[in-house]
Amino acid sequence: MLEKIFNLVKALFYGFVTVLWHLFKRPVTEEYPEEKPVLNEYFRGRPFLNSCAGCGYCKRVCPADAIRIIKNERIVEKYIIDLKKCIFCGNCMFYCPSKSMHMSNDFALATNSKSGLQIDIINRR
Ligand code: SF4
Ligand code: SF4
Repeated sequence: MLEKIFNLVKALFYGFVTVLWHLFKRPVTEEYPEEKPVLNEYFRGRPFLNSCAGCGYCKRVCPADAIRIIKNERIVEKYIIDLKKCIFCGNCMFYCPSKSMHMSNDFALATNSKSGLQIDIINRR
């Protein structure tokens, strides 16, 4: 009986000390969205395109088949990335010969509609 009481007090004491310890520790969570997270320099978020020559390398190296390029003759009319398929591997950026593709830091991709997960980029060149 005495041993049981001793173990109970010991457990309560350890629990209390643990709570006190965590009270004064810096929290590991962040107050998002008020506090912007610090991202790793290699973080890859929403891809974006500056301009496009329409060579199609990015489409060929995309493992998720997420890129669609609509051309009229040799002019790129539409460049579409389907974010529902994209796995953010960065291949389109690494293999683009004109360095037009970039992976941004934008990770807030949640949306209410499917069309919100499709980036339509009309070539500005
Ligand atoms: S990041 Fe990867 S999966 Fe996404 S579009 Fe580029 S190549 Fe395709
Ligand atoms: S984004 Fe780059 S690799 Fe893809 S079609 Fe345009 S120029 Fe070619």
